[in-house]
Amino acid sequence: TYILAIETSCDETAVAIIKDGTEVIANVVASQIKSHQRFGGVVPEVASRHHVEQITYVLEQALTEATMTIEEIDAIAVTEGPGLVGALLVGVSAAKALAFAHQKPLIGVHHIAGHIYANRLQEEFSFPLLALVVSGGHTELILMNEHGSFEVIGETRDDAAGEAYDKVARTMHLPYPGGPEVDRLAHLGQDTLQFPRVWLEEDSLDFSFSGLKSAVINKLHNADQQGLILKKEDIAASFQASVVEVLTEKTYRAANQNRVKQVIVAGGVAANKGLRTALAERFDQTDIQLSIPPFALCTDNAAMIGAAAMVAYQKGNRADWAMNANPGLDLEAYGRR
Ligand code: ATP
Ligand code: MG
Ligand code: FE
Repeated sequence: TYILAIETSCDETAVAIIKDGTEVIANVVASQIKSHQRFGGVVPEVASRHHVEQITYVLEQALTEATMTIEEIDAIAVTEGPGLVGALLVGVSAAKALAFAHQKPLIGVHHIAGHIYANRLQEEFSFPLLALVVSGGHTELILMNEHGSFEVIGETRDDAAGEAYDKVARTMHLPYPGGPEVDRLAHLGQDTLQFPRVWLEEDSLDFSFSGLKSAVINKLHNADQQGLILKKEDIAASFQASVVEVLTEKTYRAANQNRVKQVIVAGGVAANKGLRTALAERFDQTDIQLSIPPFALCTDNAAMIGAAAMVAYQKGNRADWAMNANPGLDLEAYGRR
């Protein structure tokens, strides 16, 4: 089964062709990072316009890379939500047009289900499974008992991990997106500032990163006023140490409580070297299998959407022409379709 998948939820225009939900035949990503950099973040209107300009080229390139024609494709999949509504709409419209013109089934995919399924392009899932989703807009612990079923057992009460990275980076005058740059600096510094670790209530699997973010920003401002110079490597290392410790401990706790066989990490922050190392060490002496996708599949791409779409395809889930971009699409509800 060949699925052509489209992803335009944020600032990446992406098209991929996936075989049987597990094999990447083509994977094209046109990034808009350069256009958003001078604004220090993603500008929704700019993102939508870029998607419109890029989508047909990216589509053609994916088919060329696969040496396939659209006739050989079995279904068209697209990110339905969550994301920026104007950005999502470009992908949804393109997918509908393609499916209609070529009489192919149409499948709507949840963006976070996609991030999780990026891992299936590497190895088969073992259930029960725990997914730690850490991205620009989400920080969640998700329990899966079977394919396509999602139970959120922990989530952030304020900022997402990636959002905290980006905001701290901005205060440090680092270029957008800040995550990779803070990660790089963190490895050159020491945890000298000992920022708080936010655990919340004793048994809580929820997260909170806004206090940590404020602590970092206050530290920087106070140092500025007192004419002190803090090493930016140490700020990065101290911030990252707090984020990584909390994410790793809560993931470990949730994995044991739910006796899972596998833990997978998903979303842009899964590319973080400090997090990858800490999780690998934490799960090393356990019989829980830890899986993290290769760097290129951590941030937004359409290969992951194609992988998730295969599950919907096998469940018989088909979208109709009324499908719309849904910025508030709920993951658990999506799983119950
Ligand atoms: P969502 O998936 O929640 O809708 P998104 O699609 O914008 O949000 P992703 O593309 O999954 O998010 O991830 C982007 C985020 O990952 C950004 O916040 C970026 O700073 C962060 N990120 C990328 N690489 C790293 C890294 N090495 N360390 C920390 N954060 C990183
Ligand atoms: Mg992105
Ligand atoms: Fe994403």
